[in-house]
Amino acid sequence: MSPTSSASKLVSKCPSGPMAERWDRHRFELKLVNAANKRKFHILVVGTGLAGASAAASLAELGYQVSAFFIHESPRRAHSIAAQGGINAAKNYRNDGDSIYRLFYDTVKGGDYRARESNVYRLAQVSNNIIDQCVASGVPFAREYAGLLDNRSFGGAQVSRTFYARGQTGQQLLIGAYQSMMRQVGAGKVKLYPRREMVDLVAVDGVARGIVCRELLSGAIETFAGDAVLLCTGGYGNVFFLSTNAKASNATAIWRAHKRGALFGNPCFTQIHPTCIPVSGDYQSKLTLMSESLRNDGRVWVPKRAGDKRPASQIPEEERDYFLERRYPSFGNLVPRDVASRNAKMMTDEGRGVGSTGMAVYLDFRDAIQRDGRDVIREKYGNLFEMYQRITDEDPYQVPMRIYPAVHYTMGGLWVDYNLESTIPGLFVLGEANFSDHGANRLGASALMQGLADGYFIIPYTIGSHLAGRKLGPVSTDHAAFKQAAEEAEQRVQRLVGIAGKRPVDVFHRALGRIMWDKCGMGRNEPGLKQALGEIRSLRQEFWSDLALPGSARDMNIELERAGRVADYFELAELMVLDALHRRESCGGHFREESQTEEGEARRDDENFCFVSAWEHTPGAGTQEGGGEWTLHKEPLAFEEVKLTQRSYK
Ligand SMILES: Cc1cc2nc3c(=O)[nH]c(=O)nc-3n(C[C@H](O)[C@H](O)[C@H](O)COP(=O)(O)OP(=O)(O)OC[C@H]3O[C@@H](n4cnc5c(N)ncnc54)[C@H](O)[C@@H]3O)c2cc1C
Repeated sequence: MSPTSSASKLVSKCPSGPMAERWDRHRFELKLVNAANKRKFHILVVGTGLAGASAAASLAELGYQVSAFFIHESPRRAHSIAAQGGINAAKNYRNDGDSIYRLFYDTVKGGDYRARESNVYRLAQVSNNIIDQCVASGVPFAREYAGLLDNRSFGGAQVSRTFYARGQTGQQLLIGAYQSMMRQVGAGKVKLYPRREMVDLVAVDGVARGIVCRELLSGAIETFAGDAVLLCTGGYGNVFFLSTNAKASNATAIWRAHKRGALFGNPCFTQIHPTCIPVSGDYQSKLTLMSESLRNDGRVWVPKRAGDKRPASQIPEEERDYFLERRYPSFGNLVPRDVASRNAKMMTDEGRGVGSTGMAVYLDFRDAIQRDGRDVIREKYGNLFEMYQRITDEDPYQVPMRIYPAVHYTMGGLWVDYNLESTIPGLFVLGEANFSDHGANRLGASALMQGLADGYFIIPYTIGSHLAGRKLGPVSTDHAAFKQAAEEAEQRVQRLVGIAGKRPVDVFHRALGRIMWDKCGMGRNEPGLKQALGEIRSLRQEFWSDLALPGSARDMNIELERAGRVADYFELAELMVLDALHRRESCGGHFREESQTEEGEARRDDENFCFVSAWEHTPGAGTQEGGGEWTLHKEPLAFEEVKLTQRSYK
């Protein structure tokens, strides 16, 4: 096990005083950059999903010069476009008892008390600004008959606070943020660099001053210098190979920054989403989400009898087990994702799973269609039903959907303070890429809220603490640190293309994903995690000796891109397992089988684990092929507002 150190490296910079006044006071106390000076600062924004596009647009609007880098050919292809269900805000349009405090409370509780209260309160506060901002930029949210924006319910909440645009909320929000950014491109304040993959961070005198990219069409290694670097590069769920993430989502930017000194927060906190289309065979490369919004009207059930293979239509009502409604009468089908996922697994473990593989449960709309009519259900979920039918060739208006949990989101990410700054000064991390405000479990519709909060409403203020608070001398890509980082990047590429082995990259990635899913997935235990560590290390050695890579380094080479990302996943996977091994409690998405109640619910251990784990990589330790070394730093979590209790959704 890795050494543990004090929390000295971790200064959260959370303000004190009354919770509701903290962000206001902090903003007042933050240093401002004079309007005329803003144009002298150059900000490098990596990633143009919701977090990056909103940050680039807002910073340029303020007057900064912005360069934005992304791996896609258009910012509109970022993974954010896949978000279906909605975005939370505490507007209380439904008059059903919502408030900023309730959104704050639900999010802290939903995250199983492993998030910072000050951050979560700020998130709830700015949630309402986000909706106004998005409406102003033309996002076509669903509306009620009277014209007010409509809401629906998501897991872990008893109020309706989720704003949506059919099942395409992420797409519409991204188009909004993209338009705002493109306005600044037109104004000459943002310069776009498509098809660039950031492969390293450059720090000069310990401060982040630039990045190294691989231009993906030519393979050229390029360097860029600036006054601050923002990583908005999304989540790393694809370490599991099969996930609902876009195939291009990856960990490379944050991982390389981690290896340059940025601490990694809670790497093992992964979200497994309960409603995905089940795995159908060995050759599948992607899983598809069925939005959580469907649990507003769909009822989750399995047959009462193990091994019951009758089609759903032939199983009478009294022989069905609506297990979420039975076990959690208060929240029913809308329990949080970790709870719903674990219960589905419990059912399949008991042999009560449905479908040909037995690895699925039903999500049934029969009652909702009878109650509200087919047209109402089509109006709400039409595109999701169509997507399901196209993939499975089954009509969910006629037969229940089959669903099963799948990897969906990563609560872990680079550790950041209240200003969203990592442990490397000048390196800020936004959106899913940071260790986030969601603790050990993210509530549905809260990721879009966090990404846009970070980009539109937090970084425009907090970046001032760096730009106005530190003396930043001029730096250019001629500096030795840039040359050295570029050389190292080139060597990594050459190393990969030089392996000349026999197995393609996907074979390794799939095998790594299997280890992670089986041993660091929905359930984790000490023997399994220890076994996973050994398996990851030996598979990694095989990767570095038997990888088959077609094509060359100086060309467009998708296999090479994947290989670089998979090489990083091997290292990250090891850290995820170490983190899971160290945290001998169950909390949120991290279910340590040794730590559960008699009813099979997660049992937290607040006495020993009420902290954020922040891992520091030991430079030079281990080899590329072998294991790494890390030191664990702990940021203690204090709860002043929300009382620490065992979570209950009964
Ligand atoms: C199927 C699905 C549905 C979802 N639905 C919802 C929902 O309804 N509500 C909700 O709140 N959340 C939802 N989520 C979660 C949410 O979509 C994501 O958390 C969020 O969109 C992440 O936004 P982001 O801006 O942080 O990153 P992303 O949108 O992933 O953007 C990452 C950006 O970084 C770039 N990039 C990545 N690596 C590099 C690199 N090395 N160099 C250069 N550029 C790089 C990419 O090109 C891209 O521009 C869903 C997630 C999934 C998987």
